[in-house]
Amino acid sequence: MEYHKLVDVYQQIQSTSKRLEKTKILADFLKETDVSQIEPIILLLQGKVFPSWDDRSIGVATRLVIKAITKSLGYTEAAIELEWKKTGDLGTTAENLTAQKKQVALFSKKLNVHNIFSNLRKIAMLEGAGSIDRKVSLIAELLTSASPAEARYIVRTVLEELRVGIGEGILRDAIVWAFFCDDVKIQYDPAEKSIEPENRELYNKYVDTVQSAYDILNDFAAVAKIAKEQSVAGLTALDLHSGKPVKVMLFQKAINIADAFERVGRPCAVEFKYDGFRMQIHKAAGKILVFTRRLEEVTSQFPEVVEFVQKNVAGDSFILDAEAVGFDPQSYKYLPFQSISQRIKRKHDIDQVAKEFPVEVNVFDILSHNGKTLIKQPFHERRKILERTVTQVPRKIVLARQLVTENDAAAERFYQEALKMGEEGVMFKNLDAEYMPGSRVGFGVKVKPTMQSLDLVIIGAEWGEGKRSGWLTSFVLACKEPDTGDFLEVGRVGTGFKELAGEDGVTFDEMTNLLRPLIVKEKGREVHVKPQIVVEISYEEIQKSPSYSSGYALRFPRLARLRAMERSPDDISTLDEVENLYSTQRSR
Ligand code: AMP
Repeated sequence: MEYHKLVDVYQQIQSTSKRLEKTKILADFLKETDVSQIEPIILLLQGKVFPSWDDRSIGVATRLVIKAITKSLGYTEAAIELEWKKTGDLGTTAENLTAQKKQVALFSKKLNVHNIFSNLRKIAMLEGAGSIDRKVSLIAELLTSASPAEARYIVRTVLEELRVGIGEGILRDAIVWAFFCDDVKIQYDPAEKSIEPENRELYNKYVDTVQSAYDILNDFAAVAKIAKEQSVAGLTALDLHSGKPVKVMLFQKAINIADAFERVGRPCAVEFKYDGFRMQIHKAAGKILVFTRRLEEVTSQFPEVVEFVQKNVAGDSFILDAEAVGFDPQSYKYLPFQSISQRIKRKHDIDQVAKEFPVEVNVFDILSHNGKTLIKQPFHERRKILERTVTQVPRKIVLARQLVTENDAAAERFYQEALKMGEEGVMFKNLDAEYMPGSRVGFGVKVKPTMQSLDLVIIGAEWGEGKRSGWLTSFVLACKEPDTGDFLEVGRVGTGFKELAGEDGVTFDEMTNLLRPLIVKEKGREVHVKPQIVVEISYEEIQKSPSYSSGYALRFPRLARLRAMERSPDDISTLDEVENLYSTQRSR
């Protein structure tokens, strides 16, 4: 397929803010797309070349793109920077400069989607000596043949900053409209009032099927390919495969124990909520694999976990959901997450750090066992299977401590005991619930003693002044609108950070080092950054506010902790959650 067709779709989608219209544009496009092209097209529509479970990324900085524009169009770097200052966006800059250069444009050769996709993947994989020049050449090669509009989207895609407003919700619905709508005859209403499928029940079933398939595969490209080739039957037959990471189930927050019971029902399972990090542990073909909650593989960083699981978990294949908790090797006391966070990225002296910062694996769920998918079985059954499967060895591998009760006082005692042991709080879990990958459906809720908190992503910051100059000191926070994928501002945070290294907590210096490589735009002291760093922010109240794009602002926001390691911007708090929290606080 020629690239300009895809660019056309980007432009049409950007020109409307209406969700249904976007869905329709996408659905029509997907219908026309040949099955052999569907995977690269879906990824490029999301501004990516790898699915989200794959931890490879393009990883190109603005500097390299400027060099590539110089190489392809012949402008000096200074001229490009000047135009960039004017437009504030490197994609638009490339577009304008291409237009100036090629006024009577007859482009040398037409770009196709395949070239773009394979060059971008090559860029992601280049390493070592000479790789910078190679990357610049690969980008320049594309820009040389690009029309102005193509140049804009190439640059944005290379920088992983596409932002045309195609979120997960729209993509899911577009797949339903494109491949299943002959069955349900959707009446698309351009006035954006509603869509009326002839058979709403069937329509909803298709939407759920596509969503569940996505939760298992973590990749809309793969989902769309199956939908197109094998229709609904292909999607419903999907099984969990040990060895391939699955989205983890997430939990909402309850205000207190009474609220928790109300939301999950009585009796329920109450479990210790350990303050470590989530591990999805697989056994496939005799090998153990460990994934983080963001589904990045960290097996080699945790050799002792591989050993405990091999020895103490029965079965030829399985998928476990667990929390790894650090403990002091002398006193055996549990330690907070920060103390073991360094293990996740560690590449050398692994055995040494494993001894200094040991972890205990607390298993709390099982998703499949010996080839059998268990996610549709009730939680109490899955727990029974766990009890039969895991041989518990304290400070190596154990099951999450659990109490099944319907009694408030008993739950309260258990909660206090968890806090006394240094845990974060407790989880309440519905005994009959299935395991819903990727979902925050409320089958389980957490109770913690802190103020309310939200997981937000940093999208901007401000350089400090005086003794704080050289550091970014005030950070712009955003929640997510899942349909469009937009990040919407909910305020700024500057408290909860430390000035000096060595103090407990996150310093401004660390924040600055994390964010500096992500800067995409600077104006005066303000910078915009790629939305990548996730933080948990506690606050006292949510207020309505016209100053921020979400329409809400947090009162007295404060950094509770840095979650860059365990959370991706894909699973931060959504606008719906902010709205819900706002309305529940009002009614209290
Ligand atoms: P939060 O990170 O505050 O949203 O709380 C959910 C996280 O708590 C999960 O992602 C797990 O990493 C962690 N966790 C600790 N203990 C448990 C448990 N017993 N059951 C489920 N999740 C747990």
